[in-house]
Amino acid sequence: MKYANSVVELIGHTPLVKLQKVTEGIKATVLVKLEYLNPGGSIKDRIALKMIEEAERSGQLEPGGTIVEPTSGNTGVGLALVGQQKGYKCIFVVPDKVGEEKRAVLEAYGAEVVVTPTAVPPESPQSYYGVSDRLVGEIPGAFKPDQFSNPGAPASHYETTGPEIWADTDGKITHIVIGAGTGGTITGTGRYLKDVSKDRPESEGGQVRVIGADPEGSVYSGGSGRPYFVEGVGEDMWPANYDKAVPDEVLAVSDADSFAMTRRLAREEGLLVGGSSGMAVVAALRAARDLPESAVVVVILPDSGRGYLAKIFNDDWMRSYGFLPGESEATVGDVLR
Ligand code: PMP
Repeated sequence: MKYANSVVELIGHTPLVKLQKVTEGIKATVLVKLEYLNPGGSIKDRIALKMIEEAERSGQLEPGGTIVEPTSGNTGVGLALVGQQKGYKCIFVVPDKVGEEKRAVLEAYGAEVVVTPTAVPPESPQSYYGVSDRLVGEIPGAFKPDQFSNPGAPASHYETTGPEIWADTDGKITHIVIGAGTGGTITGTGRYLKDVSKDRPESEGGQVRVIGADPEGSVYSGGSGRPYFVEGVGEDMWPANYDKAVPDEVLAVSDADSFAMTRRLAREEGLLVGGSSGMAVVAALRAARDLPESAVVVVILPDSGRGYLAKIFNDDWMRSYGFLPGESEATVGDVLR
């Protein structure tokens, strides 16, 4: 009989699929890695498992303990899933810009959710960082994984995401494109792919190039930290888990372009994914535009579009911010500009 002993065993080993329609005019092969196929619906299941296992090993998390984490939702789902299976209570602190569906998912897994305002500086006691720190201090046996600085986050990608991509492309990947939020994915996956390809001859593609994708306004692409609507990516400060030495370049993508591409991925590729996936694909297509046929570009799609039906996939919401094609007219040509 073929079965997993717990849903936790099903984390990782996500497939690659080739983009067919949105890549019109591009010679390189562009493959996307479907992280929404993880049991919790996002790439964050990987780091949740690793951070909890490491905390158990180090004694930071003991039986009956409580996990407290500021998270935009996906890390919460991963932690809720793994935490629940291992018998821990979970409390998540989320900014109010996070969709209601995402909060409801956390509660469905049995976790507690605390909502904080987005429009306060990160150092404010009301910010989601501030509130989570206070809770950790107040609750006995509380453990804060802190995905922004926990070395388990990039390590999980160095040990799983990177090797999966290298194996599934038979070592032929030439470019990896990753949106950065906490930086864990780009640091761990990018570092692995650079390490494993460092002695590959130029005739076989040379060392893998790591391309960061970032919302316009975020610090990674030189912005001031001004707000944007794409969820889960970009920062207004530099987290410890973001290693600046890993990306060879970082491309800034607008909200309008990110959302237009997110909608195209659903309609034309059958991929119902979130806004950070659309953003990463826009960056990948810009990077792939001038690449030869031999190039193999892999793009990580972090989560599903299910959590964004009331936003990116809702015409009224899109229109109210001027994101709807026809009004801001984000066509393929615009996206590739
Ligand atoms: N996309 C989404 C939807 C996310 O939730 C996250 C995690 N914040 C990311 C991308 C970025 O991943 P990382 O934090 O590893 O940089």
